[in-house]
Amino acid sequence: MFPGHYGPSFAAKRIDPTIPLWVLFVAVQLLDILWAPFVLLGIEKVRIVPGITATNSLDLYYMPYTHSLVGAIVWSLAAFAVYRVAVRGASTRAAWIVAAAVFSHWVLDLLVHRPDLPIYDNTAKVGLGLWNFRVLALGLEAAVLFGGMLLYFGLRPPRRTAVLVFGVVMFLVQVYLAFGPPPASDKSAAMAALSSYVIFALIIRVLESKPPLPVASP
Ligand SMILES: [Zn+2]
Repeated sequence: MFPGHYGPSFAAKRIDPTIPLWVLFVAVQLLDILWAPFVLLGIEKVRIVPGITATNSLDLYYMPYTHSLVGAIVWSLAAFAVYRVAVRGASTRAAWIVAAAVFSHWVLDLLVHRPDLPIYDNTAKVGLGLWNFRVLALGLEAAVLFGGMLLYFGLRPPRRTAVLVFGVVMFLVQVYLAFGPPPASDKSAAMAALSSYVIFALIIRVLESKPPLPVASP
């Protein structure tokens, strides 16, 4: 799952508008943001096997640190602690919401991945395999992404049209990934994922910033 992960970040923003949306964007992708350097360093492993699922060609055969259930819980608790300590005036509730956003990644991955998500270490792997049903998987991504966005729009935030266009662009990237060629290598897949997550967080940071006040006319 890729753009769908951002649905919970928009929903979380609705629940607690004090949390910056870019923080929630990082939170919902934290497991993948960690996965990318782990793959680049050879700590976790993926190989490209065209056709392994209908939607993508990633054989994620070793990712115990970032994508096991135990790992996901540990990173969620770490995010709770970091947010609580690093953000001045952050409430315990807000920190729990950030932690839940981190954990939402594993839950959504569970729906789409083939059984490559370990419960602990590299064993007892689960995954409901929606990636094998391209249209269904894309439909789920769209429903979760735009459903979350709709909740966010209830806050009457600025630049709603731009946010909607941004969501459509993210979804189209996923359509390309689902129908386009497989990544050239494991490392290029990790690099592409990491750079998109950083770029998306930067874009949403700009989009949610307060518009400048109009200059008062004399
Ligand atoms: Zn993931």
